[in-house]
Amino acid sequence: MVEIQVDMKRREQLRRLHTATHIVNFCAREVLGNHVWQNGSNLKPEEGSLDITHYDQLSADEISKIESMVNEVIFENKKVTIEELDRGEAESKYGFILYQGGAIPMKTLRVIHVMDNDIEACGGLHMESTGGIGFLKIIESQKIQDGVIRLKYVVREFAQKYIEEKQSIIEEIKQVFSVPENQLVKTSEKFFNDWKDQKKTIENLQKSLKDGFISQIESSGENEFTIDLDVDMGFLMEVFTKVFAKKESFKLISKKFIIATEGVVVEGAKKSIPKGKFSIYVM
Ligand SMILES: [Zn+2]
Repeated sequence: MVEIQVDMKRREQLRRLHTATHIVNFCAREVLGNHVWQNGSNLKPEEGSLDITHYDQLSADEISKIESMVNEVIFENKKVTIEELDRGEAESKYGFILYQGGAIPMKTLRVIHVMDNDIEACGGLHMESTGGIGFLKIIESQKIQDGVIRLKYVVREFAQKYIEEKQSIIEEIKQVFSVPENQLVKTSEKFFNDWKDQKKTIENLQKSLKDGFISQIESSGENEFTIDLDVDMGFLMEVFTKVFAKKESFKLISKKFIIATEGVVVEGAKKSIPKGKFSIYVM
């Protein structure tokens, strides 16, 4: 004796998503053209994915059109009808578009119509009407191989959760910038442009600083020079390389590093990195 129990919640979620998949496929063909065929699909209770034949990545506008059309079908609570037909009769009535979900090895075909013009032979579980899907959100569109685009979507409570997660990201960014939502794009653009300008300014300042140090070292004639700043290794190396070309023995000192030519004694270093004719010492 085996007792079997169907997880009704899971089945209901898959039923919604499966019905939604028919609608997404139909609407993708309406929006993109008759070359669109189902090339595979994969349903998890929380997320559906449908592969369609199409030659290019979808634009934001195309995705939005498909999504609006799908939701229109959901909001109108269309009745899903099932027609049982003899294979030959079904084929002569509808043609091979019947088999876009895959071939079905049965004499009698179950033809599903989610909308008037939607035809697909399918043995899966469907909603009786579209309203129960609630709401659909396309969350990803990706070219998975030449001529095949994968659409991922969520419905009902998962669509709500998805939107809530996006909203909470926006809330966090609002906190970071301390501006209302309608100023977020402008503000982030301003921050980004300011950052680029400042980076340029810093680069220019660093260049004049380096030039200044190099000419000081050259005019002093000393074999040792201290840069009393918290400069990075790149900065220090550039100064050293310029001077090193003209000096045989030299020691360049900064807060964190010392670079010294071969034979110059450096005491108290945590680590030394030999580089041929000179060494870098981490202090
Ligand atoms: Zn189906």
